[in-house]
Amino acid sequence: MERKNVWKVYSKEEMMAVEELSSSYRHFLDAGKTERECISEAVRLAVEKGYQDLETLIQSGRPLKPGDKVYTVHMKKSAVFFRIGEEPPERGFNIIGSHVDSPRLDIKQVPCYEESGNVYLDTHYYGGIKKYQWFASPLALHGTVVKKDGTAADICIGEKEDDPVLVITDLLPHLGRERNEQKVKDFFDAEKMDVLTGNRPLGETAAKEHILNILREKYGIEEEDFLSAELEAVPAGKARECGLDQSMVLAYGQDDRSSAFSSLTALFGLEDDRKLERTSCCLLVDKEETGSNGATGMKSRFFENAAAEILALTEGGFRDCGPDAASKASLDLRLRRSLMNSRMLSADVSAAFDPMFEKYFEKKNSAYLANGLVFNKYSGSGGKAGANDANPEYMAWLRRIMEEHHVVFQTAELGAVDQGGGGTIAYIMAKYGMDVIDCGIAVLSMHAPWEVSSKADLYEAVKGYAAFFGSCTEK
Ligand code: MN
Ligand code: MN
Repeated sequence: MERKNVWKVYSKEEMMAVEELSSSYRHFLDAGKTERECISEAVRLAVEKGYQDLETLIQSGRPLKPGDKVYTVHMKKSAVFFRIGEEPPERGFNIIGSHVDSPRLDIKQVPCYEESGNVYLDTHYYGGIKKYQWFASPLALHGTVVKKDGTAADICIGEKEDDPVLVITDLLPHLGRERNEQKVKDFFDAEKMDVLTGNRPLGETAAKEHILNILREKYGIEEEDFLSAELEAVPAGKARECGLDQSMVLAYGQDDRSSAFSSLTALFGLEDDRKLERTSCCLLVDKEETGSNGATGMKSRFFENAAAEILALTEGGFRDCGPDAASKASLDLRLRRSLMNSRMLSADVSAAFDPMFEKYFEKKNSAYLANGLVFNKYSGSGGKAGANDANPEYMAWLRRIMEEHHVVFQTAELGAVDQGGGGTIAYIMAKYGMDVIDCGIAVLSMHAPWEVSSKADLYEAVKGYAAFFGSCTEK
């Protein structure tokens, strides 16, 4: 199998387009470092492109017609964006779904305490982290605090140049003799990953009281308000160009906001006068990193409900589907047909082959930086357990679509057999009986506070997703 380094094939114009895309990508990442921030940034971009709130359309009762652009947000942490196609929705959607939550440290409900003069916020890590990566490195605090009266304060501390940052302290190497003998898994105590927030008593006011006063005065937050807050400690700082050749991006949260960004960019980039055969849909969900549970995770009925609303608003107005004309079938049956006939790209990042950790990969079936969009026929671990294994018919069709649109792609498994594994939202959507395959860009240092991706892969992802959205019903 010949591999293609995409940098070698780009024209001057394409190089410029790659840079432009990468710059918007970095802005997108900076604007959305939590699932809430990411969803509100996605909605901002959608509204700019003329997308309308589904709720408003339901209220007005105006039926949807081909070309319409609609979005809906669920609990501020998941969202779907639809671009209505010419075909009746029961013929199926073209769906690209990704997640907008990333590994981080959540602040506990009763977090604030003072110990030996230092004031801390107690944390509970979220998602799969390597604990050592979070020590002695600047952290920002993002999130929302909802007060008893329902008013909410959005918090973002540590991102502006003159903002203070927070930190988790580490033990100096001089006192590391005993700890050097320990196993990594016992080395870091999750209960001792608390964020240092202050050390200054003020006159008779203790250091903790001083911190609480600052929270009260600056943000209107009382200590009890932590009970109804969602605060996340994330790496402080902006997404950066990486490498002396500036070929890469170093940023927090590329798993999986690279997929959110590339799929939204592909959807929003479709020209207004472009007639799409099938309804295209970008799905952004929360909670993937902790198992897709909860009302905003993929296991919630949120997407199914949104699809039902779309169907309810598209009754009539479309070409007749033959003997099973839309109007003759119940909404429930139409919904089931629509989901079964859908096709999905479960967009999520892949582990890029890392020469520094060669033995954990199998070279032929690894993803490489700058080798294009990655398709993972299956994920899972230890004998493909838990995997959504895509059908070869679907993969063959995708090969054709990608080649027709000159999209550079590669296929990969997540590491060598029996070295571990992972999952995505693919298997959950596959429950509807639709074709689903995992795909996304390759990332080095996945799940680290700072992940590395190639600008070129992001460009190929946008091209690939646009080709997918534009694809028609016939396979
Ligand atoms: Mn992911
Ligand atoms: Mn992940």
